[in-house]
Amino acid sequence: MSIAADYVLKESEAFVDLSVKMWENPETAYKELKASAWTAEALKKYGFEVETGAYGLPTCVVGRWGSGHPVIGFLGELDALPGMSQKVQLTKEAVTEGAPGQACGHNLLNVACLAAAVGAKAEMEAKGLPGTIVFYGCPAEEEVTGKAFMARNGAFADLDAAYAWHGNKYNEIPIGVYVGVNSAIFHFNGRTAHAGGDPQNGRSALDAAELMSVGANYLREHVTGDVRIHYCYKEAGTAPNIVPEKASVWYYVRAMTREAIDDTYNRLVKVAQGAALMTETQLEVEYLGGCYNTMPNEVLSRQARSLMLKIGTPVWTAEERAFAEELNKTCAQYEDFKARGLLDSGPIHTAVNDLAAVDSFGSTDVGDVQHIVPCTMINTATYNIAASGHSWQITACAGSSIGFKGMLFGAQVMAAAAIELVEQPELLKAAKAEFTEKMRGRSYVCPIPKDLPTPQPDGTKK
Ligand SMILES: [Zn+2]
Repeated sequence: MSIAADYVLKESEAFVDLSVKMWENPETAYKELKASAWTAEALKKYGFEVETGAYGLPTCVVGRWGSGHPVIGFLGELDALPGMSQKVQLTKEAVTEGAPGQACGHNLLNVACLAAAVGAKAEMEAKGLPGTIVFYGCPAEEEVTGKAFMARNGAFADLDAAYAWHGNKYNEIPIGVYVGVNSAIFHFNGRTAHAGGDPQNGRSALDAAELMSVGANYLREHVTGDVRIHYCYKEAGTAPNIVPEKASVWYYVRAMTREAIDDTYNRLVKVAQGAALMTETQLEVEYLGGCYNTMPNEVLSRQARSLMLKIGTPVWTAEERAFAEELNKTCAQYEDFKARGLLDSGPIHTAVNDLAAVDSFGSTDVGDVQHIVPCTMINTATYNIAASGHSWQITACAGSSIGFKGMLFGAQVMAAAAIELVEQPELLKAAKAEFTEKMRGRSYVCPIPKDLPTPQPDGTKK
């Protein structure tokens, strides 16, 4: 195959072990202390220079090897999803009730990128190739702010190109747009009074929050078609006979461009200010951060797709196919997928799809990196085809051989891709030319302002 891709397989046992440890010890956003420490340990073992607590984020870990250009980055993720604990089995049952789980498969994601970095290093060393490999263990992808916090403090700017990977139902590379986000909690402060006895003395924070929702719903009429506004109440009073003193609403504003996000978000803040004015309450806006929409580099995407075909997708055993087959039957989309013939070629994906030019209303902070350097995100099959995103079926597959095989395949593709960029300068030049063209007249403006405090593992901010 190639030295890099072969090396990934040679070390596969160590990579699977690390992935199992992350699966067994899931940690949520900004609290990934164990995953970060184990990742640092593995990077040191493979000869990388390691920095922990990188870019001002306690759990961020970075490994570097080599010198000079090209500088190729790999974007690992450390966090798991709250409440998604699940055993590797065919029925829904948590390992620990209420505990986090790898329902987005970041135990595979982190290790795929680490393995790719290790594989690429092996080939560069063997051939004496110039260049630098950088692995980033990124916190808090699930809150879509980790990489923006890193970028605010200087990450990614020295790269020539970067690869990301995500486990998926399909072997395919998305070249459509995933929306960006702004996230903020709107806190209203009022004044308590007896709601029956002297309501004239009360100023209801809940009224303010509800009026904000009414205003936001009218705002929906006057935004571009790509905008999504959604919210949930964090706090809404304590008892009906007390005029609520405090109320908080958490909003996401999503859109295909940062321009549309900023425009809608700024108007949403005015809606909140209006609600506060109407109710004589005080408004405090707690901006939590945001991320860019994605902008996949098509040169790198086409390159990775041809490597997927060249290396060949995993061969699933009868046992793996049977497990996926039974899991498919537990999924909400099963009947629909069956009717549409999507399960005809098997319960787990084996083909390599064409580049997927489909837009999505999900988000990932890989979009930030894609606005700083040429970068693509590769998907390989790591779970049964009918699984929904962020589901217990994905947690189950992420702890099984199905997930590990997909992870190693993704690592091989990324490792081989990095070597091609080092050995074929014209390919990197084409990727950069595409990036420059797409960014013409624009520059990356970090969605995390300079003074925004950084989330800490103990839940505080500083
Ligand atoms: Zn994810």
